[in-house]
Amino acid sequence: MSFNDLQAELAQRKTDDLYRVRRVLESAQAPQVRVDGRDYLAFCSNDYLGLANHPEVVAALKSAADRYGVGGGGPHLVTGHSLPHHQLEEALAEFTGRERAILFSTGYMANIGAVNALLDKRDAVFQDRLNHASLLDAGLLSGARFQRYLHNDPDSLDGRLAKSETRRKLVVTDGVFSMDGDIAELPALCRTAAKHQAWVMVDDAHGFGCIGRGGRGSVDHFGLGNDDVQVLVGTLGKAFGTAGAFVAGSETLIETLVQFARTYIYTTSMPPAVAAATLTSLKLLEREEWRREKLTALIGRFRDGCSQLGLELMDSPTPIQPIMVGESDRALAISAALEQQGIFISAIRPPTVAQGSARLRVTLSASHSEQQVDRLLDALEIAGR
Ligand SMILES: *Cc1c(COP(=O)(O)O)cnc(C)c1O
Repeated sequence: MSFNDLQAELAQRKTDDLYRVRRVLESAQAPQVRVDGRDYLAFCSNDYLGLANHPEVVAALKSAADRYGVGGGGPHLVTGHSLPHHQLEEALAEFTGRERAILFSTGYMANIGAVNALLDKRDAVFQDRLNHASLLDAGLLSGARFQRYLHNDPDSLDGRLAKSETRRKLVVTDGVFSMDGDIAELPALCRTAAKHQAWVMVDDAHGFGCIGRGGRGSVDHFGLGNDDVQVLVGTLGKAFGTAGAFVAGSETLIETLVQFARTYIYTTSMPPAVAAATLTSLKLLEREEWRREKLTALIGRFRDGCSQLGLELMDSPTPIQPIMVGESDRALAISAALEQQGIFISAIRPPTVAQGSARLRVTLSASHSEQQVDRLLDALEIAGR
């Protein structure tokens, strides 16, 4: 058995300008990072509120490590469910206004676990075309009838739901779309789902912390609740600045996941100190409204600057502000030109996004300053020449 055909695939990826290389970060998450021995001003982290390296969050992790050690020790249903996990679940239930919440080790696992605990081949799942890969994989793995509707299009969803006669129907959408930054049309999508007795699952990885009252995300942003969105997913590695994920919902939903979600049952719990650190970041995220206000101001400044430069932005009110480029080679070239000026933004290419829609996924953080955004705009102007 040789690996010749694998080598051919790798070579093809390079030819197509789709080859990925990992850059080694030698510093903490912050606007200024050290990458492969050089200092850069970075605009591609999901640490939207600047909590990943917050001194209080770091202190909470350390003191919990002193008390609980490092490893989770086992799955939640055996010996891995520690007091900080339990407290964080209760705090997240309260934060989201749901009866209960359950922790998962990653967002990928939360999505795989939730969809697969709810659906099997007797059911159907309806997904926005631009949903995150973990949601698409979750639907495919479940064996349910798999359908994708047009991006953010309730009519397209309605047509597909109307033709479906399965036992259960689950509509699944990102709350804030991870590569475009736009917000899902949740009121219309939820009305459409309700009309066809379908459940709604929202993965709000990029909404929590950034939008909604006190950072309560896209569902709260629209004033919707558990009757509209029965399955609410959040990840902790983005605005929360830590790691892991949760699903929030009714007592029945969460107990179903405790009993049946395989990615919950057959895996080691996240380190308890990470749960303790997240309790602290949740407090900061909820209370420090200035972080969201600052983000809003930076987003406005960036968008104004781009329109003066004639750059094509997407219709995004969130910290995700992609600059559409089109072809992968061009996205790589602009990213390299920015790097020469000390700005770090990676080019997002297919298959992460559709063919011909390669982009620079600029993300802003409350930890950026106005001057840093201006520096980015200057660098974009030079790179565009
Ligand atoms: C990042 C992300 C995930 C995965 O979360 P991890 O905790 O990083 O595994 C899931 N869904 C969406 C929409 C995401 O952006």
